[in-house]
Amino acid sequence: MARDPVCHVQIDEHEASSRGLSSTYQGHTAYFCSSTCKEHFEQSPQLYAGVATAEDRGAARELLEMQRDRIERLERRLSALEARIEELEEAHAGGI
Ligand SMILES: [Zn+2]
Repeated sequence: MARDPVCHVQIDEHEASSRGLSSTYQGHTAYFCSSTCKEHFEQSPQLYAGVATAEDRGAARELLEMQRDRIERLERRLSALEARIEELEEAHAGGI
């Protein structure tokens, strides 16, 4: 038996292989319960693979932090733009 690294259910590796639900990452083969789990794994194998090193995890965390910062910046810009649009709409409604 093997464990699906994405959803952690126990699966039969022979059955998973025969259904094409396996993926090799850094020489380690992972087996999945569904194509959805396989896709999740293949999008960011370093997050799921049992072979992930501390460095991989650090890099993944850093990436996540960067994305969070980026989202915060974009949200601030979006509010500024929304305020600007409101101003313009008000000016327009005022007949300027
Ligand atoms: Zn799964």
